[in-house]
Formats: sequence, structure tokens, C-alpha cells
Amino acid sequence: MNDREVHKKTNRGDAHWLSGLLYCGKCGEKMSGDKACHDYICKTYKVNGKKNESGCQCFRVPNAEIEPILECYFEEVGHRLNVMVAADQNSSLVHALFTESWMKECELHYVYMKMTDFITANLAQGIHYIDDSEVIIDQDTMDVYGEITLEEIYNEAYASNAKMLQEKLAEKEAEFDRLFERYKSLKTEMARERADAEMGMIEVEIKKLKGQLEPLVEQYHEVLDESKRLAAAYESALETVKGNENRRKGEVVRQLIDKMICRFDDDSRELIDVEIIPKTGHPWSSQRNYGTT
Ligand SMILES: [Zn+2]
Repeated sequence: MNDREVHKKTNRGDAHWLSGLLYCGKCGEKMSGDKACHDYICKTYKVNGKKNESGCQCFRVPNAEIEPILECYFEEVGHRLNVMVAADQNSSLVHALFTESWMKECELHYVYMKMTDFITANLAQGIHYIDDSEVIIDQDTMDVYGEITLEEIYNEAYASNAKMLQEKLAEKEAEFDRLFERYKSLKTEMARERADAEMGMIEVEIKKLKGQLEPLVEQYHEVLDESKRLAAAYESALETVKGNENRRKGEVVRQLIDKMICRFDDDSRELIDVEIIPKTGHPWSSQRNYGTT
């Protein structure tokens, strides 16, 4: 390859820095960069023209249309992650978050939920004092309020209940063993069916108790650290995408995003939605979150 060719190749790669990431929502093929401009065109249309089986039109989109959507994505999801991580400091913040519908899209939500479930199931209704802080448990609404971390409250609930749960588990396991012994000597089909159902129910209880006894703290810190890492990565990606170093933009976006599915209106051929599939986390739709119509 001579110098001129190298130069040409670099240039082309930079101009279409979203190459390989964009997919046509109709045929599922990649959108490929158009040599003449900064647009990306549905490959099916580009190769086959109008007569293609998937019915793709000349769907095309320029960098300039995708970039603000990417900015919006990084800004919004980065912000959400930061809010989730900040709630680590105060259980009342976690409680307030449960009303946000987007929260379900964050993995931290799942762990916060599990901790809250455990706390409300194992600490009595009413006011508790943990490390001199007032903590209110409402078992009816499954709410936990307090100016200390959810982790501290969870640890308290775990410490005061683990022994009791272990005893309960041992009891259930003994009961299961007894039934199992008896099962062997059962003569009729009906008796065995009944014993089967009984053992099935105890098995469910054993599973539930084992689940409760599994400390969540380790999993919690793993997810928390990962969320912090992602929040920082999204923040820095936002800055990069706002800049104009195309090569760098391509690298950063590829680290975080798997693919972006572009959907077009069949009649107007306008871009109506970009679905972003990140490497980690939930898919995000520009139509739902950004308002491309
Ligand atoms: Zn297509």
C-alpha cells in the first residue's frame, strides 16, 4: 500500500466512524458508508436496488443525525447510573427511586429490591434504631426509610435473623428427610401422589430459605462497582462524541455499544427510531427516550 492509499483509507474510515455499528431495522443487514457522503445506506438496498425481498427502500442516515441521539443516550443512561449509585449513601433515596419506571433497567435496582425484600421480611414493623439512626420499616408497603445506607440496614436484618433462618432451614430439611423415608414404604399410588405434593411444597420452602440466607452484600458491591465504572465510561463517552475526533469516537462507542438498529418510515424513508443495544445493560430506544418522530 502506498502513502496515497493509506491516506485515502484512513480518511474513509474516519468519515464513516459508525461503520459496523448501524443496522437496518427492516432487513437486519448492516448499513454501509456511502463513499460520496457521510451517509450510511441499507446494504440490502445498496446491493439489490429497489427489487429486494425485504422491501427496503433507500434508507439512509448521516452521522449528523445519529450523533445527537448517541449524546442523548450517554447523557441519560449515565445520569441514571449516577443517581442509582448515589442512592448507595442513603436508604431513603433508594426508596424514592422505586417510583421511577426507568429504574428497572438498571441492574442495581434488582439488588436494591432483593435487599429491601429481605429487610421488610425480617425486621419487625415500626421504628428501629441502628447505629443511633432511626429506621422505619413498613411491611405493608415494603418500604424502608432511614438516613443510613440500605446495606447497613440489611446487615442488621441479616445478623439478627440468620440464626433463626438457619434453624428453620434445618427443620424443613429434617421434615423433608422424614417424608422421604416414609415415601419408600407407601403402598398405593394415591398415597405416593399425596406425599409427592407435600415434599414439593417443602422443597419450595427450603429453596426460599436458602435464597434468604445467601448474603447479598458481595453481589451488591460487585454490581455497585460495575455501575460506577459504567457511569464514568458513559460520562467520558459523552464528551468524546461531542468532540470531532472521529477515530476516537468510533473506538469509544464500540467499547460500550454492540449495535444500533435504525428504523425508517416506509413512505417518507425518514429515520423514526434508533434502538441502541449496549454491551452491558438494557436496550434503549430513541423514540421512547429522545422523541425522534
Ligand atoms: Zn434494509
